[in-house]
Amino acid sequence: MKVRIIFNSEAVCEHLSTGWGFSCLVNNEILFDTGEKGSYLFNNLAKMDIDIAKIKKVVISHDHWDHTGGLWKLLEKRKGMEVYACPNFSEQFKQKVKKAQGVLIELKEISAIAQDIFVTGEIPGTYNNKDMPEQALIINTKNGMSIITGCAHPGILKILRKVKAAFPPQEVYAILGGFHLKNEDEIMIEGIVDVFQSMKVKKAGPTHCSGKKAEMIFRKEYGDNFITLKAGETVDF
Ligand SMILES: [Zn+2]
Ligand SMILES: [Zn+2]
Repeated sequence: MKVRIIFNSEAVCEHLSTGWGFSCLVNNEILFDTGEKGSYLFNNLAKMDIDIAKIKKVVISHDHWDHTGGLWKLLEKRKGMEVYACPNFSEQFKQKVKKAQGVLIELKEISAIAQDIFVTGEIPGTYNNKDMPEQALIINTKNGMSIITGCAHPGILKILRKVKAAFPPQEVYAILGGFHLKNEDEIMIEGIVDVFQSMKVKKAGPTHCSGKKAEMIFRKEYGDNFITLKAGETVDF
């Protein structure tokens, strides 16, 4: 299972666009989130030699601009593409997808969307005291089930527990993406690392809204099992 990082705040070289948001491509067929801007997404796809005609589906983790920003340019080029969303995303988002001729699929439960690739379905979350439902991607790697998150507004542990409960008796192998810990203190972050380790999560790749402090703590605790996620990198597992 290959996860190619398309967009993030850092990149492996200066030719790739960077900024706020996240996007990755799983097995060259499922695009998870689209970063902040269409031009950045398309620049990076081109520089990484990715043929957009081969992308089969796009999964949007949640209705925030830094994850949906590239979607509109993608739908312009790929009318009729399936867009996986959550039932409680904003009406504005849903109408925009339909207007752009995307095929909106809204899932509440864990569902397979390709061979060994699942979405968690909607998990309730909040952002700035407002509802912010979110879904994560689950991939069945040769080492075990792994999770890719957008911002984890429902809470990274809530997402982890939902996935673990759905696939007993498997442990979750790796978690990567936004953990949304940038406003949390060290004690809180250490507590999350402890839960990860007690649940035998082998690898962790906090990025994006996880915040520098969380990245540092996870890097220290996970050592060689810390995953970096710069645009242009590939995680192969
Ligand atoms: Zn975000
Ligand atoms: Zn967000």
